[in-house]
Amino acid sequence: MRIEVGDEGSTLSMAWADGTIDTWPASSIRNACGCADCRSKDSNPLRLTAPGLTRIVDAQLVGNYGINFVFQPDGHSTGIFTFAQLRGLAKQG
Ligand SMILES: [Zn+2]
Repeated sequence: MRIEVGDEGSTLSMAWADGTIDTWPASSIRNACGCADCRSKDSNPLRLTAPGLTRIVDAQLVGNYGINFVFQPDGHSTGIFTFAQLRGLAKQG
């Protein structure tokens, strides 16, 4: 599996073990964040960030099940995205 942040952080590509490659805009990843902050009723991720400005500035593997991203401009870094979640995002198109 390979993770690639491209276009100055505005896109994320994942090359899966089966050879499939999925690419998302950084804003799609940011908006799918499932952390408590983003899912609490007072805080909608769509309001936290401007889609066109969203960038992924860092990506770290979390164990063997997911990835933690650092986003700009909001500096959000607490969400963990599981591989299953990312594959699900790809299937939504
Ligand atoms: Zn979050």
